[in-house]
Order: sequence, then structure tokens, then C-alpha cells
Amino acid sequence: MSDTLKPCPKCWSEAFSGWNLTDAYAYVVCSDHECGLSTINMRYRDHDDAAKFWNQRVEDPELAALRAHVARLEAGIHAVRELIEESIGVYGLHGNGDVAPWDDLLRGGQFEDCLHGFSDAQAAIAERALKEAKP
Ligand SMILES: [Zn+2]
Repeated sequence: MSDTLKPCPKCWSEAFSGWNLTDAYAYVVCSDHECGLSTINMRYRDHDDAAKFWNQRVEDPELAALRAHVARLEAGIHAVRELIEESIGVYGLHGNGDVAPWDDLLRGGQFEDCLHGFSDAQAAIAERALKEAKP
């Protein structure tokens, strides 16, 4: 292969090329399985063509770095969301040993100011997902 593969334009992870033995075509795929970006649907006749196409799609490095930064922030938000879904609340917030339930701390709750940034970030992620899902 003559072209070196550039990083994934979506998440900036390393990319690698492959060959589909069943249907005999070359492709390039992002190494981050959660990203999943690939040229698999394009069915290139060889690795050079697949690499050329993949490398043309690489965006400005600064923009790509920002996208990767956003992806890391979103992963953090999702991690906190999972923690919230797997627990009942926060001990020690009230200073009296009572649990502060998550519903009290999130948007609409009695103490929503505690996590308003988290609630806003979740809303932003949901809005973006909705926009990306629209054709
Ligand atoms: Zn990727």
C-alpha cells in the first residue's frame, strides 16, 4: 500500500485497512469500535483506492481535535448518566446523613442548581443526536 492512512476524521483514532475475502473488496475502518466510521459500503478494488478516499476525507486537524475533545466530554457525561442510573443519589450533600435523590439534583428538581451544567450538557447531547438522526 502506497498511501499511509490518516487518522479517523470523526474521532481522530488510528485507522486501518482491510480486505473483505467474501466479496473481494478493500476498505478502511476506524480502530475505535464505538466510532465505527469506515468505507466498507464503498467496496474499493484495492487498498490504495480505499486509502486515497479515506485520506481525502480527513478534515482540518484543529477541527478534528475539537471533535475528539467533544467526544471525550460526551463520554464523561454518559459515564455520569450511568452512575445516576445505577445509584439512588448523593450522601452528604445535606450534611445530615440523608440521601439527596438524583431527581432532586437534576433539572426540575428542588436542588437543580447543583447539576444544572450536567443537565444542560445532557440536553445538548440529546439535541445533537436528534439533529444527526434527521435525514
Ligand atoms: Zn473514528
